[in-house]
Amino acid sequence: MYLSACYNTIVRQKNYESETIMIVTSQLPKPRQTVTIAFGDGIGPEIMDATLNILMAAGAEFDIDIIEIGKSVYQRGFSSGIEPSSWDSLRSTRVFLKAPITTPQGGGFKSLNVTIRKSLDLYANIRPCVAYAPFVKTRHPAMNVVIVRENEEDLYAGIEHRQTDEVMQCLKLITRPGCEKIVRYAFEYAKKYGRKKVTCLTKDNIMKLTDGLFHSVFDEIALLHPDIQNEHMIIDIGAARLADTPEMFDVIVTPNLYGDIVSDIAAQIAGSVGMAPSANIGDHGAMFEAIHGSAPDLAGQNVANPSGLLLAAVQMLIHLGQPSIAEKVHNAWLRTIEDGIHTFDIYTEGSSHQCLGTKEFAESVIVRLGQIPHILAPVKYREAEQKITIIPYQRPPALSKDLVGVDVFLHWREKDPKVLAQLLQAAQETNLPLTMVTNRGVKVWPEGLAETFCTDHWRCRFLSPLSAHKISHAQILGLLTRISETGLDFIKCENLCNFDGQPGFTLGQGQ
Ligand code: NAD
Repeated sequence: MYLSACYNTIVRQKNYESETIMIVTSQLPKPRQTVTIAFGDGIGPEIMDATLNILMAAGAEFDIDIIEIGKSVYQRGFSSGIEPSSWDSLRSTRVFLKAPITTPQGGGFKSLNVTIRKSLDLYANIRPCVAYAPFVKTRHPAMNVVIVRENEEDLYAGIEHRQTDEVMQCLKLITRPGCEKIVRYAFEYAKKYGRKKVTCLTKDNIMKLTDGLFHSVFDEIALLHPDIQNEHMIIDIGAARLADTPEMFDVIVTPNLYGDIVSDIAAQIAGSVGMAPSANIGDHGAMFEAIHGSAPDLAGQNVANPSGLLLAAVQMLIHLGQPSIAEKVHNAWLRTIEDGIHTFDIYTEGSSHQCLGTKEFAESVIVRLGQIPHILAPVKYREAEQKITIIPYQRPPALSKDLVGVDVFLHWREKDPKVLAQLLQAAQETNLPLTMVTNRGVKVWPEGLAETFCTDHWRCRFLSPLSAHKISHAQILGLLTRISETGLDFIKCENLCNFDGQPGFTLGQGQ
């Protein structure tokens, strides 16, 4: 084992698949910082060992604190896959190098990744997706895209409810501070790394308030960076163009779910999902990981590509203020790829020279430490600043807010919206009348279409006749009481407010 041959003080001993691995550090220079490490599930332990071997051989200076996360922790009854004591390590080191974990399917379990990102406020997820042509097969040899994914909000808030027999709901939350932080980060990243253009991807033609906010914040912040080009695309055509012509993109900034999807697409078309790293950055800490999962189909076979985690560790070294070690590791890795030393996922008969296992690939990188690639462009991190900083969010003065109506959501198993409207009109007040009923967002009363399919979930809008006319919470409570007295089952209500005179709610489709 490489590490045990080089160093002589054991700081970790770990058994898996009947092999004892030892990481020892006494001959390393004095550690400057402790990094929390998790070996994860599936291929995680193999790619983490490969990565740590390379980092230690390159002279990376950090101490290691190992925590256990993932499958075994879930199985011990911790619903987020992490034990409370592990938070102490994360909160004290504030730097986490994490191998992928297996998230159990089904209810009762929460995603560990989402929990860590949100708990530590790691708002920016940076995912460079680069082609290494002609050494790694790709149809997009000039591709070099960085995806800056918002990391804490959107549908990943994980607030889901079953509302009726037939309907589940997931809340999509987009906030101004969240948008400002991620968009500022994207432009600062572009500036620091000499990138020319930032493209924003949203679906604001449909989600006018949530994605609309992201887009409008992008437009505001783009104005502050006249030296960097900016553009916006609707996510569907943006994703299609990314898959077809990734060379036209430079930096992409996008909400959480779209970023998750397009970064996997981008990594795969660049060469392999196994090669893309991910840095999760916040003001108080950072987590570095590969973008791929635990690939249980490959676990324990010494075949997984460790490059995604290794390149994430390169980002970590820059974050730790060790840019020259980062540069050394990255250039040795580029040289290995250029020499045709490949794992199976990027191996191509004829153009690759050798197909190696995870450990042997790592050893090949170690042998090349100190070398630079001849054909691929060498990286230069020596001058890299430690961190990107953004202006802290300043909460603006409060807007004037007028309550002007309420959407009441009902669980109702009948089919005819006219019957429902009659029941509700019997419960309404003169200055808070029923104005619309929708089913799955489509207007079905008044004047709906017979063809519209209706499920058992109805949104019933009561709106003050003059949109400027304020109503009170007491009126809403009275309305809900009367609705309940008619025997109707209300699930929830959403207040309808004007903010500085502008409606803070959308129309129904077909309204
Ligand atoms: P996955 O990314 O684990 O694997 C998809 C396929 O990609 C694999 O079958 C494999 O062929 C290939 N692949 C992935 N990593 C590779 C590598 N390093 N080298 C070579 N090939 C590689 O996705 P999945 O199968 O959908 O998910 C498996 C598990 O991972 C699930 O439990 C999922 O929840 C979890 N997951 C975890 C993370 C994380 O911890 N950050 C991220 C995504 C998925």
